[in-house]
Amino acid sequence: MGSDSVLTSTKPTPIPTQEDPPSPSTSLLSFNTDSTTDPSNPHHKRTANSILFISLVIVTCIALSAASAFAFLFFSSSSSSPSVTPTEIPSASLQATTRPLTKLNHSVVLLISSDGFRFGYQFKTPTPNIHRLIANGTEAETGLIPVFPSLTFPNHYSIVTGLYPAYHGIINNHFVDPKTGEVFTMASHEPKWWLGEPIWETVAKQGLKASTYFWPGSEVHKGSWTCPERFCMFYNGSVPFDERVDTVLSYFDLPDSEIPVFMTLYFEDPDHQGHKVGPDDPEITEAVAGIDRMIGKLIDGLEERGVFEDVTIIMVGDHGMVGTCDKKLIFLDDLAPWIDISTEWVQSYTPLLAIRPPPGFAPSAVVAEMNEGLQSGKVQNGKNLKMYLKEELPSRLHYAASDRIPPIIGMIDEGFKVEQKRTNRRECGGAHGYDNALFSMRTIFIGHGPQFARGRKVPSFENVQIYNLITSILNIQGAPNNGSVSFPSTVLLSNPS
Ligand SMILES: [Zn+2]
Repeated sequence: MGSDSVLTSTKPTPIPTQEDPPSPSTSLLSFNTDSTTDPSNPHHKRTANSILFISLVIVTCIALSAASAFAFLFFSSSSSSPSVTPTEIPSASLQATTRPLTKLNHSVVLLISSDGFRFGYQFKTPTPNIHRLIANGTEAETGLIPVFPSLTFPNHYSIVTGLYPAYHGIINNHFVDPKTGEVFTMASHEPKWWLGEPIWETVAKQGLKASTYFWPGSEVHKGSWTCPERFCMFYNGSVPFDERVDTVLSYFDLPDSEIPVFMTLYFEDPDHQGHKVGPDDPEITEAVAGIDRMIGKLIDGLEERGVFEDVTIIMVGDHGMVGTCDKKLIFLDDLAPWIDISTEWVQSYTPLLAIRPPPGFAPSAVVAEMNEGLQSGKVQNGKNLKMYLKEELPSRLHYAASDRIPPIIGMIDEGFKVEQKRTNRRECGGAHGYDNALFSMRTIFIGHGPQFARGRKVPSFENVQIYNLITSILNIQGAPNNGSVSFPSTVLLSNPS
């Protein structure tokens, strides 16, 4: 998207000319050899044309240089996600510097995830507590961009590792290891699945304490992280949200040296409701209000302890949500005249269609036959699904460099769903997992604390940038990742010099 427009703008624009269009070399020659400007000079008209032409060439050159310089800045500022342009106009708040801690002896980052909190939900209903964080903190003005696929486990793990799913290994909520045939599910806690270095491991490695009140991957023992009983909660969706908040608050009653420097807090809402009823149902409004109450409870608890202004709160979601309904279905069985897609080939249907055909079936042939059927006009909603060899997916998706990713991936249009065969089931609800370029897949980013400017808006960015943001706030050495090293300086206040 962004990169295309930059590349297009560097193409020379045709120069409109009247009469004989002089070539650049002859016009330069005539400029050099014909020095007169006398209007009576028979060469004057040609000279004037030449000057006009040269001016146009110079203007074009300046435009091209500016475009190249912009392109350079654009790519060098964010090697991993060219769609990110940290170009907001400097405001007064940027001149401010980091605020000193008043009660705590060390920085604390509390990372909160509200699952499926689509960007825009914060306007559904009064959310005074979330808006208090926004007003006094820094917000991604048009939301946080998830990684592809915009699913819960891949995204939560990208947030804490700074890696795209192809590199952190959690390429779907559910997948098969092609080498061993073993199945990964959301309950798999063996370290072999979870690649990269999550932030709690980075923290523990430096002799510091981290706590996790639920987060995909947090139960997994990795390196210095042993999921300590006191600070690492095993996932249990039935624990009331209030209890989660109370437990996190209780960590601030510990002696300063015992307070973890990094904490997570996770809420299943409003994802849970979004799947059931879609993003526009009153049930979502209620769930959003419920999350806002939890943020209010948290703020109150931190204020009672006198640490609200010292603690860095980063509130995010993992992905958005879009309405789905039964008219927007695509059935793989409809492709039978072109190719039989066996259920055993399909690792996931929707919104990420992932297919691994058995040996003997060339993936490229399967893709070609499926696309032929889908584009034939004879398959219901066929034009809303396009099949790719994973290597041929748009590079901005970063979804190829892992054996775990099946060789064939289908990109499904927003709100459409793929099923194997027709059934009598009729349902409308919500889904996510689609192309991360879709606005409906965006979620929220709010940063509040000593290193975030008050009332600042920053452009949207991908969630792989958050790992570097946290290591920067905690001033610790992070592991290599797909985020940009310079990103934190574009979002955080600078230290007083
Ligand atoms: Zn989710």
